[in-house]
Amino acid sequence: LAQSARLYTEEDPVVILSSDSLKQTVLNSSSAWLLQFYSSWCGHCIQYSPTWKALAGDVKDWAQAIQIGVVDCAHEKNFDICKEFGIHFYPTFRVWADRELQTVRQLMVNFLQNHTKHDWPVGCPPLDPARSEKILSLMGKKTEFYTAVIVEDEDSYIGREVILDLMPYEGLAVKRALSSDKLLMEKLGISSVPSAYLFYPNSMHTVMNVQKRLRFFFSSFLKLLPGVHRKQSTSSLQHPQPGNNGQGTQVEWKEFEKSKVYMADLESGLHYLLRVELATHKTLEGEELKTFKDFVTVVAKLFPGHQSVVKLLETLLEWLVSLPLEKIPYDAILDLVNNKMRISGLYLSEQVQWVGCQGSSVALRGYPCSLWTLFHVLTVQAANRPDALANTGFEDDLLAVLQTMRRYIGTFFGCQECGKHFEEMAQESLNQVKSVDDAVLWLWRKHNQVNARLTGSMSEDPMFPKTQWPTPDLCPTCHEEQEGLHVWNEQMVLAFLRQHYGASNISPKYSS
Ligand code: FAD
Repeated sequence: LAQSARLYTEEDPVVILSSDSLKQTVLNSSSAWLLQFYSSWCGHCIQYSPTWKALAGDVKDWAQAIQIGVVDCAHEKNFDICKEFGIHFYPTFRVWADRELQTVRQLMVNFLQNHTKHDWPVGCPPLDPARSEKILSLMGKKTEFYTAVIVEDEDSYIGREVILDLMPYEGLAVKRALSSDKLLMEKLGISSVPSAYLFYPNSMHTVMNVQKRLRFFFSSFLKLLPGVHRKQSTSSLQHPQPGNNGQGTQVEWKEFEKSKVYMADLESGLHYLLRVELATHKTLEGEELKTFKDFVTVVAKLFPGHQSVVKLLETLLEWLVSLPLEKIPYDAILDLVNNKMRISGLYLSEQVQWVGCQGSSVALRGYPCSLWTLFHVLTVQAANRPDALANTGFEDDLLAVLQTMRRYIGTFFGCQECGKHFEEMAQESLNQVKSVDDAVLWLWRKHNQVNARLTGSMSEDPMFPKTQWPTPDLCPTCHEEQEGLHVWNEQMVLAFLRQHYGASNISPKYSS
């Protein structure tokens, strides 16, 4: 029982309400609310909680219009409020509990639409179909933003769901139109529904080309349009973060492809790690030294880089292993990396060149992006080259890369908060990894968990919104829909990751 006492935590995408906060939050709110009154001892509530969390995560971006809250009626301090709301049976929405999430989501849309002009939630955009004259008047017109029109049958919910999904984004408007509007269908040249039609700011207009006509594909396509950004909170606009990515000055924009990994990012990350992040440690000893040695071992053996960089790492490793010291001054390592090795032509560029990791401002992306990229590349290398870690002490260790990453992040990574979160995730599920392929997928899953947590946060680059990755444009077969809910095809994800982070997909462009 103690374990189930908290079915929901702050980490979940639901708002946890209690007698102190419920009325104030819900009654003063500009959005509508869907509340679950539950009891933490009720088996059905416990069973249903993953579904409720999935629903809440699925409609997180609808918060301006409708939010999801939970109230634990087994908690003594909530007794009164539950009584006041007349809750006798848990969960109170029991009628929904056996329904598919899709149906619940549709009930939410209906619920929003049942509001009248007078009590319409302030943050909620119009959900009724747009008039055809309005849409057709956009043809050939230059505008300041995109307009997307989802054309669908009257009983289809995709249009309204996409409107709600795009609410926190600026740079576009989403509208819904009905397939019964024959004139519109004809003028737009649409013959099957659901379809989406896109009006560009420059007056171009065309049918939107998505691989699958599913809500997630439409929404994801629109979120990724150049010029469409998640609205920034005023606080992050007023307080730009200080530079933290090792990049001194604003540099010229570099063209790159999202479907590639760039050696320049990996090398810049290694440069930053060895010469900046670690250099803040005067000496390395004990656990720190061991963590550093293991990190160098894993990278030296698995990094699919230029000969001179790999050789530099191998030489560093030999030196570390041969040194009988318990304690190494970090200056000695720097001297080796910067000076001694250069004499023999071993060289790691000191230039920071972010390419796939470049941010729209100096304070964004850069180093943490390169570190994720490096570790994805390493897990994939470990899966693609099973013998690479022979004779290192890691040869039979499926978790070699992930444990090394975990220890590096916990010991040296400049963002302590990140390290704490990562450690929690590792403690929770790292022991479920049973193969090198599992390790690739584990890191992908955890990275997406971090992305979900950081959506809309200050570290989000508006030009690179945090999304669940890979997006449908990168990997259409990775995405499926089951009972209206987005699901991953993990087999396809694994194949994609092995290709994307594989050695042959690493571009040498911009790398020295
Ligand atoms: P990143 O998240 O850095 O991703 C880099 C690239 O990896 C993306 O551009 C994309 O091409 C690819 N990618 C994205 N998702 C996946 C995926 N699921 N699987 C494989 N590849 C993917 N910041 C915080 O504010 N709080 C934290 O708690 C936090 N924890 C972190 C923990 C770790 C271990 C690391 C390395 C970083 C952490 N950060 C945290 C930083 C944050 O995750 C981002 O790295 C940073 O905000 C830069 O984001 P980005 O847009 O460059 O994309």
